[in-house]
Amino acid sequence: MLARLTWLRRSFDGTLLLCSLLSLCSCEETPVPRGPLRTPDLGAASGPVFAPARPSEPPSDDKLATLTKELLDKHGLAQRMRIERGLRQVAALWRAEDGDLAAFAREHFVSDEKTLKQFHQRLSEVLEQLDGHLYEAARELRRPTDTDTGPLSSLDTLLGSVDPSTHVVEDLFASKVGFVVLLNYPLTTLSERLSDGEKWSREQWAQARLALRFARRVPAEVQQRVSESVVAGERYIGSYNLFMHHLLDEKGRRLWPKGLRLISHWNLRDEIRAGYADPDGIAKQQTIAKAMTRIVEQSIPASVIDNPRVDWNPFTNQVSLAPTEEIEADAPPAKPLTPDKLAEREPDRRYALLLGQADAQRRLDPYSPTAKTLIERSFQLSREIPEQQVVRSLAEICESPLVRQVAERAARQLGRKLQPHDLWFAGFRARGKVPESELDALTRKRYPTAQAFAADMPNILQKLQFAPETAKFLAEHIRVDPSRGAGHAMQALRRGDFPRLRTRIGPLGMDYKGYNIAIHELGHNVEQVFSLYEVGDTLLAGVPNNAFTEALAFVFQQRDIALLGIQKPDAATNHRRVLADFWDTWELAGVSLVEIATWHYMYDHPDATPAELRAEVVRLAKETWNHYYAPVLGGKDELLLGIYSHMIQNTLYLPDYPIGHLIAAQIEEHLAKQPAGSLGKEFQRMAKLGQVTPDLWMKNATGAPIQTAPLLRMTEAALKALP
Ligand SMILES: [Zn+2]
Repeated sequence: MLARLTWLRRSFDGTLLLCSLLSLCSCEETPVPRGPLRTPDLGAASGPVFAPARPSEPPSDDKLATLTKELLDKHGLAQRMRIERGLRQVAALWRAEDGDLAAFAREHFVSDEKTLKQFHQRLSEVLEQLDGHLYEAARELRRPTDTDTGPLSSLDTLLGSVDPSTHVVEDLFASKVGFVVLLNYPLTTLSERLSDGEKWSREQWAQARLALRFARRVPAEVQQRVSESVVAGERYIGSYNLFMHHLLDEKGRRLWPKGLRLISHWNLRDEIRAGYADPDGIAKQQTIAKAMTRIVEQSIPASVIDNPRVDWNPFTNQVSLAPTEEIEADAPPAKPLTPDKLAEREPDRRYALLLGQADAQRRLDPYSPTAKTLIERSFQLSREIPEQQVVRSLAEICESPLVRQVAERAARQLGRKLQPHDLWFAGFRARGKVPESELDALTRKRYPTAQAFAADMPNILQKLQFAPETAKFLAEHIRVDPSRGAGHAMQALRRGDFPRLRTRIGPLGMDYKGYNIAIHELGHNVEQVFSLYEVGDTLLAGVPNNAFTEALAFVFQQRDIALLGIQKPDAATNHRRVLADFWDTWELAGVSLVEIATWHYMYDHPDATPAELRAEVVRLAKETWNHYYAPVLGGKDELLLGIYSHMIQNTLYLPDYPIGHLIAAQIEEHLAKQPAGSLGKEFQRMAKLGQVTPDLWMKNATGAPIQTAPLLRMTEAALKALP
């Protein structure tokens, strides 16, 4: 989990995102439910009538012109551009209740360099403390839910859902601090940051970040509506399980044992992946793929969702009451079911929820003058990579001739023609040479407790080629706690506070899986220490987005076996991993393209009904499949590209995954070219580049903006090198 980016991201789109870069990240692949929040309105699109607060009428042009002239007279013509821009920025978010804009501007417009520098300095200090301490408070509120403190009380679950930072931005506006920033510092557009950012000083960059904090001023009720739409999606997905014992194959057979309950789509997809090592795998894989199709087109009978009392054949779409002896002993209480309603399809709820999110975002649009749609906020504010550039990169991957070559390799390995479900082919990631039980024994002995891992950190870091004094500094700035879940890294937001490494320790000590995750999290923590303590101005603390810290964490994780000292990293394993990454990137490119197009449709058709949206998503999934995937995997008109649950709960987050793979490959390729022994130094240099745009960060780090070329080069090399 990457709590700080979560924090920043949430302030942009109201979404709490967990570190979940699929195979790139092992921390939290399946989003973790966040404990009880507000009761969602599941039919958000047709929910209660909601009267949004409108932004107040902006001051008239005449008034602004008079004020501009007055300020010009006072501060001189040289300030013209700053005065005009500052007034425009303030006027866009000023409300009637804020009082007299002219009086405010007269008092707070600053034209002398020295005062501007002092203001910058003071705001940098204050915001570091404000963010840092509120974050610590949030961490404490969540301590029992995040770390292993024994049984969780109902009170702690409630406390864990409290977010002390919710109203900070509004408070800063209400106190006029936000307006002082907007009056005096430029609110830049993404295209300005991209075209001019390279020439900016660190000071200019820090001021750009400062102003961007106040790019939006969203009334609490509008923000609440957005949060509710997201929570409604999370709730819906959170209980969207299939009881696999009751999912029948084409011939009506039960393929799975009792009790297995898989959440869509993560567990279903992972079950397809696991099928490659299972003699009955292909029947299971085909059955799951068919069920996924039914979910996307909403022909799935509503009665089968999360219900072990009915059997379902997704091929014929027949439903029947499960024989009593087949029902799980610990099945949840029966839902009322009338036999004639058993086969009724799910009534497009999936798409109603998605429309609910679009509706909430449209209500937010007027309060976000520099990024007027969710699509613009997602690409320009959160991701900071232009939409066209992302789409172009995704298409480059999909169109690469390497796809066919990698696919041929997969088909050879399987000994059959590829099928649609091979979208999730998992055979490139070969098992390690040392059996996992042996690795478990080793890590348990070495790390019986969280303290043992903490004590070994300087040693681990020196093996990762950090100088002894740097390793010591890092170890002193990272705290290790036993985690409740699989493990996560939680950063700090002020100097004086320390990032947390949360790691899972079983009663027998740390097993290999826990160790592998701990090394990944340690990579996050090391990045977090450098990007806070060594970044200079903390307005620039951090990295541009999640994908970067995931890529850096992966640098550590990849070396986990080597760190145990039992095996040298071997080239063939690495090449197979590159093929697996390429395949994942290809798969994720398709689902991302479908999601992007879906949001355009929703913005272009504000009156679309759930049924119309369903028809469009089905059309987009088919079109993308037929264009890019059918030539490789067969299956005309497949719908698998529409199955991702992120689409329903994470508002346009999917493109971060394939872009994350590109970023990881580019960093990896760069590090591989460095002289022996310099890994630690290079990691440190990159981790403290700070929050500039992703492209500029990458240029500073590797010499080139984000590209598909490194991943493609590495894939080509892997194909050549492997027998
Ligand atoms: Zn991670």
